[in-house]
Amino acid sequence: MGTALDQYGVAGHPVGHSLSPFIHGMFARETGQRISYRLYDVPPAEFHQRVRAFFAQGGRGLNVTLPHKIAAVEVAHELTPRAAYAAAVNTLAARPDGILGDNTDGAGLVRDLCDNLGVAITRRRVLVIGAGGASRGILGPLLGLAPEVLVIANRTPQRAQALAAQFTELGVVRGVGFAELDQPFDLIVNATSASLAGELPPFPPTVIGPQTVCYDLAYGRSATAFIEWANLQGCMRALQGWGMLVEQAAESFRLWRGIRPDTAQVLAALKERSESA
Ligand code: NAP
Repeated sequence: MGTALDQYGVAGHPVGHSLSPFIHGMFARETGQRISYRLYDVPPAEFHQRVRAFFAQGGRGLNVTLPHKIAAVEVAHELTPRAAYAAAVNTLAARPDGILGDNTDGAGLVRDLCDNLGVAITRRRVLVIGAGGASRGILGPLLGLAPEVLVIANRTPQRAQALAAQFTELGVVRGVGFAELDQPFDLIVNATSASLAGELPPFPPTVIGPQTVCYDLAYGRSATAFIEWANLQGCMRALQGWGMLVEQAAESFRLWRGIRPDTAQVLAALKERSESA
């Protein structure tokens, strides 16, 4: 008789498009962990009650995606420091004394940039575009690598300024509107949701020089509008967020299972899958 599998999943709304079951399925096979990982389509009004029921019934962990990353802060009984700083949670884990909330998005981005792609951040000029949930998650880990300056630019400048004010003790960080951008950056991270709508935020081409690396948190079968634009402006490299997707998942897996899977195979499989879809 087999023992019941430990239960995991991803809660979002909608969630049908999520690649997380594929990614965690591969991680589990690779590390020899026997787990179940399912999709949970949870409307916002039911989020707290459904999450509590999942853990009360013995569930071990959940990934949390749009639109629940802020609500997941309240459902957790305890937060990791990086989740508390981000005020957003993308991973919930069962602990003996309650539900732990973590945010692995920033660690995932930094690992992809530094380890997979060899992009330097320390003493470099970094621009983050957008001041929403994803930006909150990545600012702490980016500042942890001591860039010369980190500028947050947003369509609504007040949101960028408010966000920058929350992170000033971690490094040199400023919040601005797009009109204030006039110099090239070494690294530009697009953390707006504009790519999902096929749109391009109206920031000036002067932010891009021949040495600029551009990274879009969004990813897709073909180049996003931001990636196309960055290439047209003559940037050095323009990269989509596939690696962050896989690396943030690996961080969640490590939190749940105490073992960090190798990500290279999963990344290669995902790219192949998206190219042949
Ligand atoms: P969000 O909280 O809804 O944030 C939206 C942000 O985008 C805001 O700053 C908003 O500006 C800006 N924005 C939206 N449309 C715009 C437009 N047309 N022009 C200029 N700015 C625009 O979304 P999020 O959760 O932060 O997600 C952002 C992106 O990150 C999404 O594409 C998501 O898929 C991606 N993401 C990827 C990963 C990964 O693993 N690769 C992980 C997390 C998120 P205002 O403040 O002015 O409204």
